[in-house]
Amino acid sequence: MQEIIELPVYWHGSVDAVNEDLKKVKKGTVKELRPSAGGRPIYMVEYGKNTLPKSLASLSSALGARDYNCYADKTGADYVPTVFLAGCIHGGEFEGTVGIMNLISLLETGVDLAGKPNDALLSVAEKLHLILMPMCNPDGRSHIPFDNFVGHTFEDLRYYNQGAWKNGELCGWPGCKTRHPIKEYVSYLGGYFNDDGVNMMHDDYFMNPCNEVKNVLEVTRDYAPDFSVLFHGGDNSRNHFFPVSYITAEARRQMTEVANLTTEAFAKEGFIFTISEAFAKSGGEDTGLPPFTLTSAMFNTCGEPCVTYESNQGLVKPNSYCLNNDEIYRCHMLFMEVALRWTLDNKSAAARAAKSNK
Ligand SMILES: [Zn+2]
Repeated sequence: MQEIIELPVYWHGSVDAVNEDLKKVKKGTVKELRPSAGGRPIYMVEYGKNTLPKSLASLSSALGARDYNCYADKTGADYVPTVFLAGCIHGGEFEGTVGIMNLISLLETGVDLAGKPNDALLSVAEKLHLILMPMCNPDGRSHIPFDNFVGHTFEDLRYYNQGAWKNGELCGWPGCKTRHPIKEYVSYLGGYFNDDGVNMMHDDYFMNPCNEVKNVLEVTRDYAPDFSVLFHGGDNSRNHFFPVSYITAEARRQMTEVANLTTEAFAKEGFIFTISEAFAKSGGEDTGLPPFTLTSAMFNTCGEPCVTYESNQGLVKPNSYCLNNDEIYRCHMLFMEVALRWTLDNKSAAARAAKSNK
């Protein structure tokens, strides 16, 4: 029997809470995207101005012409960088959604959902063009009958997020990836999957992507975000970036720079952000055939750094690193502050001009 822990007031992570909050958005622009496999609405919210001129060529064609600017010309003196934040890729990973909903509250009202200011994050957020997709997989979210895993067990995470096979055995990780779509093989369809049994991280990207994936890849293709984040929950691991393959060494260098800054910022407040050996490796091409994930697909539609942020989930698990709700929330706000500031410092018109003059 798990301990029942009351959720903090700022913890808006359910499908209904997100949809209700988005109805109140006034400063941002809410756009309804393609619906989920189960017919649930999916939204994105935009803040700031998109200053990217019309694209003249696909990314592939532009790179074939050896001129990225034909795809996305960011050399204009008025260029404002774009950051894309996406939550709930997997339904049982609510933490990033909560972070994004609180960022929306900050941008709308000046305070978070607990009524507290966060001027460090707000001041940098207001200088950027932001695309926020708090609930990418509402079907998966609806497969989880509660709003976070703090106080729950590892078995709860396995059952509700990854599901159970027809014989009742837990699908587990990475076993849940041995069938795709998984729907016809399970007795319980976990939060990883949309109602068709598709895991967004491992879809058929080139030939038959699901609506949820198209929503995400349309943003990376059309806006060429300067930095993109897929928020995930990663059991009771230390906060980290999951390895991404099929990217360039330069993108990995930039992602590692953000990881290092995050490690420093977290350490100042007593939190841990780790950089794994697998993440630090370049490209992944030297390790055989690494998985081509949604993050890889995003990079290959825009050519800019895209990361998979894995949060600690506060499970009841002996001898593990375990954060509580307030700590999980603070880590997200801190990480967003670091990522947004890095983007502003490195990708604005002024930063680009300073670099090209060197
Ligand atoms: Zn995940």
